[in-house]
Amino acid sequence: MMALREVTRRFGETAVLHGISLEVAEGSFTSLLGPSGCGKSTTLRIMAGLDRPTTGRVLMDGRDVAELTPAERNVAMVFQSYALYPHLTVAQNIALPLAMRRMSRLERLPGLDRLLPSARAKRADQARRVASIAEMLGIEDLLQRKPGQLSGGQKQRVAVGRALVRDPSIFLLDEPLSNLDATLRVQMRAELAALHRRTEKSFVYVTHDQVEAMSMSDRVAVVLGGRIAQVGAPRDLYERPENRAVAAFIGAQP
Ligand code: ATP
Ligand code: MG
Repeated sequence: MMALREVTRRFGETAVLHGISLEVAEGSFTSLLGPSGCGKSTTLRIMAGLDRPTTGRVLMDGRDVAELTPAERNVAMVFQSYALYPHLTVAQNIALPLAMRRMSRLERLPGLDRLLPSARAKRADQARRVASIAEMLGIEDLLQRKPGQLSGGQKQRVAVGRALVRDPSIFLLDEPLSNLDATLRVQMRAELAALHRRTEKSFVYVTHDQVEAMSMSDRVAVVLGGRIAQVGAPRDLYERPENRAVAAFIGAQP
């Protein structure tokens, strides 16, 4: 279980987060829904341990994430900008978190896998895992391409694949579908929802798209101006928005 406790974040003089408290239950699909600039990415980066709160705490299973190693944190993030490595192939991009974690320094040396049976076995194991993820995401024919040779939707799948490969306990997804056309967005929405059901992991999904948040999530946290204006099941937000700002943003009647 992950929890934010009164998290604030300032950049110089500017306060961006004004005390965010949120619990992400095991296996839930939680969305952070809010307009551009409200602090969604900042919140997610803090949850990923990529940024620190100015004040407040982030807890993972009761422990402060600041005290955990990246392996202990075991969160995977899909970035708004994909953040793929242009010089690596699709297969290498997906496998990267594995390569970092599973191989000893010796085993990682190029060419050595032919000599070390342990390295050979691990590489074969990795290749199988990458292949099965690529198949699940429908990019099995693209594994030898570079990101520059992919469409936006294909890059998005690679970014999701890279997050999946390490089998994290929490997935943090930052507007993963915002660069896709409407048809592909609807399709990927269904695929991510299916992925959530299949993996039974916790998903935290950032979006400014009300329909997306409402259709995919168990719980939605509406973020307005660096504060959580309301948290609840999609239905509750529609039927009982706490104030006009929430109602206006989600398109419900106050
Ligand atoms: P979008 O939907 O456009 O991605 P967002 O909700 O993800 O928006 P954030 O990226 O969290 O918004 O940014 C929230 C506010 O914090 C913005 O006003 C942004 O300009 C500011 N901000 C974010 N990062 C920094 C930084 N490193 N330095 C200064 N200001 C920042
Ligand atoms: Mg953002």
